[in-house]
Amino acid sequence: MTIAYDDQNIFAKILRGEIPSEPIAETEHSLAFRDIRPQAPVHVLVIPKGAYVTYADFARDASEAEIVDFTRLVGQLAEELDLVPSPGGGGHRLISNAGADAHQEVPHMHIHLLGGRALGGLLPAM
Ligand code: 5GP
Repeated sequence: MTIAYDDQNIFAKILRGEIPSEPIAETEHSLAFRDIRPQAPVHVLVIPKGAYVTYADFARDASEAEIVDFTRLVGQLAEELDLVPSPGGGGHRLISNAGADAHQEVPHMHIHLLGGRALGGLLPAM
């Protein structure tokens, strides 16, 4: 069972222009903007414009055009923001939280693009 989409969530309001954001890229189907509480020198959120709660919902229900648009934008931003791995270091992390176990705060599908510092291990030890 999936969680119903709530169109009063913060990112839906950003998409409708009801609250401000700091956009860095917009395509036909996707929007990217800075996280309001950055956890790295680069912390960008990439969201589809469509009403999806989780990555799984997006992967199941979005059109191919939406999926291609979103996937390409995430990759392009990693390059444009200089987060490409090199022999000397660099790189980035992509995270998409879903549901309570992952502490998803905003129930509109998004990917965190993080970089600009050493990010450490994926999770604290169990
Ligand atoms: P989640 O825990 O759902 O994966 O992450 C939601 C993210 O959205 C958090 O990193 C949080 O800082 C960010 N966020 C919450 N409200 C706002 C907002 O109004 N504007 C922006 N730009 N980011 C927000």
